[in-house]
Amino acid sequence: MEIVKLAIQKSGRLSEKSLQLLSECGIGFENGERRLVARAHNFPVELLFLRDDDIPQYVSDGVADAGIVGENIIAEKEYPVPVMEKLGFARCRLSLAVPKSVSYSGTEWLQGKRIATSYPGILKRFLTEKNLEADIHEISGSVEIAPGIGLADAIFDIVSSGSTLISNGLKEVETIMHSQAVLIKNAHLSQEKNQILDRMLFRIRAVQKAKSNKYILLNAPNESIPEITRLIPGMKSPTVIPLAMEGWSSLHSVVNENDFWEVIGKLKELGAQGILVIPIEKMIV
Ligand code: ATP
Ligand code: MG
Repeated sequence: MEIVKLAIQKSGRLSEKSLQLLSECGIGFENGERRLVARAHNFPVELLFLRDDDIPQYVSDGVADAGIVGENIIAEKEYPVPVMEKLGFARCRLSLAVPKSVSYSGTEWLQGKRIATSYPGILKRFLTEKNLEADIHEISGSVEIAPGIGLADAIFDIVSSGSTLISNGLKEVETIMHSQAVLIKNAHLSQEKNQILDRMLFRIRAVQKAKSNKYILLNAPNESIPEITRLIPGMKSPTVIPLAMEGWSSLHSVVNENDFWEVIGKLKELGAQGILVIPIEKMIV
């Protein structure tokens, strides 16, 4: 029986969420000292704990079979690793920022400037696409202080809330890419390893789907049932149970988080009362 070697970040912004996702998929690891490798006790997968920068390389070389890493890291060196699924966490963007005082007119402002970044590959491709030339200073951390100490005119770095930029007197002027954690795999896996990964992916999707949906229960006058059914069809159609009170029913369904507040508003207009919304743990369609 083969075992899939899954690379995850040893310690950093991806680590906890990666382990949490596996645990929500019912894949259990021994707690305790975090070692270099850990074997799941109920699924044919073994974890390799690595620096996030090393994960795409290990996966494309086949040292690991699959991995969880930010899209930014894959894009930087354009590793040939198929993305199996976007995982929805560690969301950030990669942006150009300049000192607040600069009157930035558009990308042509960047021509001939010095730009500090940890992502020279992505930046270079962007500049080439825009027919611009700039002096790229590659630095590995604390990029946001570069303009303040006179090392650069602009920076290209990861932004999530933007507060780091503001506290360093910078403003975001161009967003070049959006990133989130993804599940990647080696392009030449055995059929057996692919099957194991597909089983894992099935569970990941059930967890993701559950997170983006809510179970909804409400009471409504019977004459509103057809319209409410159109509004919250759920997985097939809502469950309708008569209430003891004449002319009223209880409806149970599933609603997507993105439509949630709009749907609630319409339900109230249709006379719905006593609306309960409950998280779903797993959802298999
Ligand atoms: P390592 O020691 O493993 O190399 P690191 O310091 O390079 O870690 P982290 O800061 O832990 O990396 O970030 C890991 C990934 O999380 C990044 O590559 C990016 O995809 C994402 N990320 C980084 N900063 C943020 C942020 N502020 N908000 C959300 N996601 C982020
Ligand atoms: Mg790193």
